[in-house]
Amino acid sequence: RATLVDDEEGGILFVSAPPPSSSSGFGHSSFDRLRQRLPVFKYRDAILYLVENHATAIIVGETGSGKTTQIPQYLKEAGWAEGGRVIACTQPRRLAVQSVASRVAEEMGVKIGEEVGYTIRFEDQTNPSVTAIKFLTDGVLIREMMDDPLLTKYSVIMVDEAHERSLSTDILLGLLKKIQRRRPELRIIISSATIEAKSMSNFFQPRKKNLDHAADVSLPSQSPAILSVEGKGYTVEIHYVEEPVPDYLQAAVDAVLSINDKEPAGDILVFLTGQDDIDAAVKLLRDNTQDDRRRSSGLLVLPLYSGLSRVDQDLIFAPTPRGKRKVVISTNIAETSLTLEGVVYVVDSGFSKQRFYNSISDIESLVVAPISKASARQRAGRAGRVRPGKCFRLYTEEYFLKEMPAEGIPEMQRSNLVSCVIQLKALGVDNILGFDWLASPPPEAMVRALEVLYSLGILDEDAKLTSPIGYQVAEIPLDPMISKMILSACNLGCSEEIITIAGVLSIQSIWVSARGAQKEVDEVKLRFAAAEGDHITFLNVYKGFIDSGKSSQWCYKNYINYQAMKKVVDVREQLSRLLRRLGLALKSCEKDTQILRKAIIAGFFANSCRLEEYSHNGQYKTIRSSQEVYIHPSSVLFRVNPKWVVYHSLVSTDKHYMRNVIAIDPSWLIDAAPHFYQLRTPNFAPH
Ligand code: ADP
Ligand code: MG
Repeated sequence: RATLVDDEEGGILFVSAPPPSSSSGFGHSSFDRLRQRLPVFKYRDAILYLVENHATAIIVGETGSGKTTQIPQYLKEAGWAEGGRVIACTQPRRLAVQSVASRVAEEMGVKIGEEVGYTIRFEDQTNPSVTAIKFLTDGVLIREMMDDPLLTKYSVIMVDEAHERSLSTDILLGLLKKIQRRRPELRIIISSATIEAKSMSNFFQPRKKNLDHAADVSLPSQSPAILSVEGKGYTVEIHYVEEPVPDYLQAAVDAVLSINDKEPAGDILVFLTGQDDIDAAVKLLRDNTQDDRRRSSGLLVLPLYSGLSRVDQDLIFAPTPRGKRKVVISTNIAETSLTLEGVVYVVDSGFSKQRFYNSISDIESLVVAPISKASARQRAGRAGRVRPGKCFRLYTEEYFLKEMPAEGIPEMQRSNLVSCVIQLKALGVDNILGFDWLASPPPEAMVRALEVLYSLGILDEDAKLTSPIGYQVAEIPLDPMISKMILSACNLGCSEEIITIAGVLSIQSIWVSARGAQKEVDEVKLRFAAAEGDHITFLNVYKGFIDSGKSSQWCYKNYINYQAMKKVVDVREQLSRLLRRLGLALKSCEKDTQILRKAIIAGFFANSCRLEEYSHNGQYKTIRSSQEVYIHPSSVLFRVNPKWVVYHSLVSTDKHYMRNVIAIDPSWLIDAAPHFYQLRTPNFAPH
C-alpha cells in the first residue's frame, strides 16, 4: 500500500512500494509507474482473461481505480484493436468523454483524434483509419447503429458508468444484448463504481443455451462473468450538520471557508447542483478573497460542470500550485465520472439536478432533488483518494439515516420517452413495450410518447415511422421536437434562422451567469430583446456576434458566453450540412418572425400555455394539463406576460418555470396540430 508524507511546502508527496513486475506492454514513459500504481493494474491479467473467455464481463471497482483510463489500454495492448478493429468505451456524459480521452491519449503519448479519439454529438475527433480506442457517449453509439446495426467495427464495447443508469445507457444495454445474439464474438464490458452486479449479470444471461455457439470453441462463453476490483480508498470521516441548513449554497461557502481556516492542506471538492448555483458559489468565494484576505487567501476556486470550456477543464486537472488550496465546485459529474487527484475534503449539499417526468401532466422538468444514500457514499469516497479525508454533509445524520432513499431511480423511469421511442423505432424495434428492458419504463409514459410522436406526424396510426418526416427526424441528432421544428422550417422557408435557434437551444445558455451583475445583464439583454420572445432574441444575438467578426471582446461586453456562441456557430454549420444531405433547402425568411414562430410551434405546440385571466403574478396554465407555470426570470418575456405562449423547456424549483418562451397566436396551434388539440382538449377555446 502506498504511504504518504507531507513535504514542507504543504504539498503531498507520493511514495509507494515498487509496482508488481509485469511482462505486459509497458514501456518506460513517465506514466508507466502511475499506471501500475492504480488498483486495476493488479487485475490486468484477470480482466484480459475474462474478456477473452466471456462475451460479457461485469467489472465493479471504486471510482479512481483506473477502470476507464486503463482497461481500454489493456485491451489494445492485448491486441483487441488489431486488424482495423476498434475498442469503444461509452460514457453517459460528454465532458467525461473528452476528459478521459485526452487523458488516455496523453498516457499513450499520442495525439488526440489519432490512435485515441472521441465522438460526442456535433464533435467527432476520430480518424477512421487509425483510431483504435474510441470514447463516446452512449447516445452517439446508439446513433451509430442506424448506419451499422451490428456495430461491426467494434471488437469490444465497454459500457462505463453503468451504475448511473442513464436513459441512453439502459437503451444501449438492451440493444447490445440483441446484437450479441447475432455477434457472439462481440465482447461487452460493463463497468461501474457500484452496481447491482447480480441483476446486470442476470440480464445478460442467455435464456436458451445456444448449442451452435457452445460447440464452437473459438467463441467465448455467453454467460457473463463478474470481477470486483478492490480499491485502496482511505477512511473518510463523516461530519453532519446539527440542524437542517436553510440555504445549502451559503452553507457550502461557509463550509469551504471553515475548512480553509481549520484544516491542514488538501483540496476541497464541493457538490452543488448546476451551473447557476455553482457559478454563484464560485463568485461568493472569489469575492470573499477580495473582501477578507486572511480567510480565503490561497484558495483557487474552480467550477466544474458540463459545457465548461477546454481551458477551464484543464485547470481542474492541473496540479494545485504551491501554497494554494484548490476548491472545485461541481455537479455530480465528479461523483464517479471524473477523478480529481488531491481531494481531501468533500462538501456535500445533498442535492443534485435530476430529470423528472410526470406522465399525467406530461411535464418533464429538471428539479433540484435530494440524492440517494448510494450517491452520498460515492461523494464522501472522493475525499479518501490520497489519504484519510473528511466529508462535510450539509444535512443531518437523522435525515441521512431515515429519509434519504437508498438508491436513485433509473432515468428510464423518470423521463419523457419521446427520444427513446423514436430511436428504437428507427432501429427497427417495433414492439417497444416488449423490448428487453433492464428496467421497464412506465407504460403511461410510453403511451404519452407514442401520442406525442403521432401528433407530430413522426409516427403513423400503426406506430411506424412516417416517410419522409419520421425518418428524417430520426436522422437529426436532436430532440424530436427540435428536429420537427427544423423540418417544418424547411417547408415554410425559414431554415436559415431555425438552425441558429436550434443551435442555441441545444446548448445550456448563451448568457454569462448573472449573479451579482443581474442589473447589467438585464440591461444588455434589453438591447437584443425581441417582443416575440427568446427564440427571436437569439437571432439578434447571433447576428450581433457574426457582425462583430465573432469577437470574444464583443461577447465579454455583452455578457454573452463566447464559448457557447462558438459552439452555436459550429452546431449550425453541422446542421446545415445535415440538411443538405437530406436534400432539404436552406432558406431565409428575412425578417418574417411570424413564419419563424409557426415553425417553432410545429415542433413545440404541445408546450402551449395561456395566461390566467385574472392573474396578477404572471400565472399561466398549460393547455394540455392545466398545470400552473410561470415565465422564467431569464426570459425576455418575464413580466411582459403575453396571453398565449409556447415554451421550450421547464425548470422546477419552488414553481414550474418556462425557459425560452415565445408569444403566439392561438389559432396557429390548431393549424399546426389539429389532431392534438381536438384529441386532447375538446373545449379548447382560443378566442
Ligand atoms: P475509474 O474509471 O476507475 O474511476 P479512472 O481510470 O478514471 O478511474 O482514473 C484513474 C486515475 O487516472 C485517476 O485516479 C487519476 O489519477 C487519473 N486521471 C484520470 N483522468 C485524468 C485527467 N484528466 N487528468 C489527470 N489525471 C487523470
Ligand atoms: Mg471511470
